[in-house]
Amino acid sequence: MCAAACLTLAFVYLLVWANDRGARSSLLFALVALGAAAFAFCEMWVLRAQTPEEFVLAVRWAHVPLWLWTVSMAGFVFTYLRAGRAWLLWSVVGLRTTVLVLNFVTGENLNFLEVTSFQRVPFLGEPVAMASGVANPAMLLGQFSVLLLLILVVDAGITAWRRGERRQAVMVSGSVAALLTASAVESNLIVWAGLQLPFTLSLFQLVMLAAMGFELSRDVLRSSMLVRELQASEARLRDSQQRMNLAADAADLGLWVWEPGSDEVWATPRCCAMLGLPGRAHFSLADFTNRVHPDDRARVTQSLRSTLEQGQAYEVQYRVRLPSGAERWIQATGRVDEAGPGSARRLQGVCADITERRHAEQEALRLRRELAHAGRVSMMGQLASALAHEINQPLGAILRNAEAAELFLQSDSPDLDEIRAIVADIRHDDQRAGAVIDRMRALLTRQDLQTRPLALGELFSDVRLLVRADAAARHIRLELAELPADLPPVQGDRVHLQQVLINLIINALDAVSGSAGSDRWVSVQARQRDARFVEIVVSDSGAGIPADRLVQVFDPFFTTKPGGMGMGLAISRTLVEAHGGQLRADNRPGGGAVFTFSLPIATALAVA
Ligand code: ADP
Repeated sequence: MCAAACLTLAFVYLLVWANDRGARSSLLFALVALGAAAFAFCEMWVLRAQTPEEFVLAVRWAHVPLWLWTVSMAGFVFTYLRAGRAWLLWSVVGLRTTVLVLNFVTGENLNFLEVTSFQRVPFLGEPVAMASGVANPAMLLGQFSVLLLLILVVDAGITAWRRGERRQAVMVSGSVAALLTASAVESNLIVWAGLQLPFTLSLFQLVMLAAMGFELSRDVLRSSMLVRELQASEARLRDSQQRMNLAADAADLGLWVWEPGSDEVWATPRCCAMLGLPGRAHFSLADFTNRVHPDDRARVTQSLRSTLEQGQAYEVQYRVRLPSGAERWIQATGRVDEAGPGSARRLQGVCADITERRHAEQEALRLRRELAHAGRVSMMGQLASALAHEINQPLGAILRNAEAAELFLQSDSPDLDEIRAIVADIRHDDQRAGAVIDRMRALLTRQDLQTRPLALGELFSDVRLLVRADAAARHIRLELAELPADLPPVQGDRVHLQQVLINLIINALDAVSGSAGSDRWVSVQARQRDARFVEIVVSDSGAGIPADRLVQVFDPFFTTKPGGMGMGLAISRTLVEAHGGQLRADNRPGGGAVFTFSLPIATALAVA
């Protein structure tokens, strides 16, 4: 019965080990059970021995399964509890093997040097063999090996207990230690004290195996529960992935993950389609960069690198070239994801096809450019009559000077110094007219926003040239204040800023012309607002803007002038904002309007 029970246990755990070769403790447990099964057979043989010779032979062979049992038990406790001392383990193995050898080479067997009496006595209703004789001293070594095993088991049990694995410690170490002690007591009583009892070691072994088997089966139970939990959590993961994919699809987003360690990019089908890599769930970074437009490639790889190195958020817009030759704009955002300490870094994020948005943006930019240009043309129309005067004046002077020079030349001895002075005047007047025409031409050409560091003095003198005639014609004092010497240059586009400033000045001139006051002026000042911005202020002595219209004046087509278009301030605000600044309207405490706009300081922008 013992043998059958042990064999069943051995078979079960051999099967467990066969399916999971990593489970070394299952293999060792199966060997312990095999040893116990074989020992039970030998023990039966001993009990049934008919002669003293058969008795000593059976005892001798019983030591072979006992060796297997001891050695694999030591290994099992050591592996299963992940505790114990390796030197103890190897001592048990070495000593028990020596004992096995001594069993075959000394006396009748390990237990008897010589059997002096043999009898068959009734035990539990059956005659069983029993013998006594001269004990083999080598048996002490065998008992010492059992003692070492006991120490190993107790020591490993204490370690496991301290680690908090109390149940395992009690079930494995406790049961092994208790039963080892009990069986040792029994065999010592029989051999040394001559107790009239047969050996029943296998009964002890069966109890021990049952206790350990119970503990191991809890592990099997736990792993089957873990499998179920794993299946449930996998199902939840699949669910959440499906929900995420649904959300990403609804938002028209693609998802991607890049693992730099394995250089593998995983992407959803939508993301692959956006990048022109359809039907590929995995691809390398090189596959991806090959798709990126050559002009954008360096920017994309640089951005990826700095995200990985500095952990910044990854955000980049780039073009991809599809196999069909078409071009698409993609916006990708992502961040570094560290799954745990020491694990590989990876980058994951989303990408969106923004081709249509980019086209719309470009279209809006084009329209804004056209509008700004139209605004400039209309502004120049308003200035035209005053500018005609600005040009006519030097032209008239040139004509008069040329006539005077002709008169001088008609005399026999022309005064050459006088003629030289006249020619110098002609050149000066010509340059004056030329400068006005140049500025007008610059304003009338169509031009993209091109910012560069720009000294405000330059801007003010251009503007003065174009508006002073208009101001003079309306008898309005135009004060373009001296600029502070330490005023830093701004980052701006010369033509566009001229447009803003002229527009504000013309509006101010209009407002002053329409008001009845005697002190008629328009003033332009510039000052540094803070470390990053310069402010330009255009104020006038007009009637100001009713408080409820301070915001409205910037609306397109808002005008209070009979022939007005209402686009000037709307365009000016767009232009200032395109520079990174702001334009606002206020009223002066003493009456009159104040328009203030800010522009970024060139160096501050460069640093930012
Ligand atoms: P327009 O000059 O064609 O009317 P703007 O957009 O330049 O278009 O100006 C819109 C309106 O803002 C003007 O009609 C005027 O009512 C008001 N406005 C602009 N500048 C001033 C100012 N300096 N003083 C008073 N009102 C002003």
